Amino acid sequence: MKKGVYQQLNLTHLQAVLPQLLQTAQHEQWTYETMLQRALAAELEGREQKAIARRLKAARIPSKKTVDGFDFTFQPTLSERRIRELADLSFVRTCANVIFLGPPGTGKTHLSLALADRALTAGYSVLFTTLAELAQALESASHPGLVRQRLRRYIAPPLLVIDEVGYTKLSPEQAHQFFELVTARYEHGSIILTSNTSFAQWGNLLGDEVLATALLDRLLHHAEVIAINGRSYRMKERQQERTVLSVSSEVALLGTDGKSIGVG
Ligand code: ADP
Ligand code: MG
Repeated sequence: MKKGVYQQLNLTHLQAVLPQLLQTAQHEQWTYETMLQRALAAELEGREQKAIARRLKAARIPSKKTVDGFDFTFQPTLSERRIRELADLSFVRTCANVIFLGPPGTGKTHLSLALADRALTAGYSVLFTTLAELAQALESASHPGLVRQRLRRYIAPPLLVIDEVGYTKLSPEQAHQFFELVTARYEHGSIILTSNTSFAQWGNLLGDEVLATALLDRLLHHAEVIAINGRSYRMKERQQERTVLSVSSEVALLGTDGKSIGVG
């Protein structure tokens, strides 16, 4: 059977919204020209939404975080202005890198995800990974062709987030592939990287001081390094939970007159 005119022109969104559009056109007495414009705009809008959804899925973002959802008062060593400037994404346009350094729970992943979210909304392709995942993916490739193919996946997007550098020590093979990736992206695409380990430890992490020096040289040439020296937000949340728990258990021990019922 011959495909309908909408399918032939691949106007699937227009086809879906057409009945509603026609009703509004009749009700508001649109001219033919307005009708045509609205119809084409609806198709464009639908395509854009689909592209955003596709990019979001491909980015493998573990959870949505935003700059506005970050409590800067909790992390006084961190400059809000600096993060807001990064959220302008000029670092993506210039293929520069962003490195978040700091102990666990200080918001490194949160801020990386928030910047990734901005990039996605702005129309960039993004890929999120941890170093462990990346090393595993490249190592499990059974032949050199497959390694190159997988490497390309990490080289292609304008923004690559590599989270949790420092938790996993790399094998010589993995260290070499990590180096190759950073070299391939150098001045071609941005990396956001988070680490709880100081750069001095990277020789140990990669098992090779010379390789680590060469890798850091490329990584840091055009990079904004943001060190967060603060408290863990996770600990704060746990402490609050504990306070709530202890308050509610105290309340439970009080009678309605506010006197302690006492136990035992
Ligand atoms: P890190 O990657 O540095 O270990 P995360 O970014 O994973 O820390 O933060 C741990 C949790 O605390 C996350 O749920 C994150 O959204 C939240 N969090 C961390 N810092 C802040 C902050 N300053 N304001 C709001 N939420 C925060
Ligand atoms: Mg993290």
